[in-house]
Amino acid sequence: MAGRKDLTQYGYRKARAAFLADNDVCHLCGHPAADTVDHVHAVSRGANPADRDNWAPAHGVKGCPTCGRKCNSEKSNKPATAAVRLNTSRDWYAGP
Ligand SMILES: [Zn+2]
Ligand SMILES: [Zn+2]
Repeated sequence: MAGRKDLTQYGYRKARAAFLADNDVCHLCGHPAADTVDHVHAVSRGANPADRDNWAPAHGVKGCPTCGRKCNSEKSNKPATAAVRLNTSRDWYAGP
């Protein structure tokens, strides 16, 4: 999966890690220890994936240690898998 996107992916991951270091309370279940960043407004609907105002902490694949939910996965399961795929191939999106 590695490729020419590595640099931007790396910067994005670093920014997300810093974001979670500041605030790790999941916006979906309200418990701490969130380990992924959710986009409040869907990127597939035109939100800027790099806009931190649109970021919110959420529990990813490891799930919430308090309630056991995998909040971000539960959420993205609803609008079909296309929403997840768009995150990795957003080259088509060049802004409004
Ligand atoms: Zn959660
Ligand atoms: Zn929870």
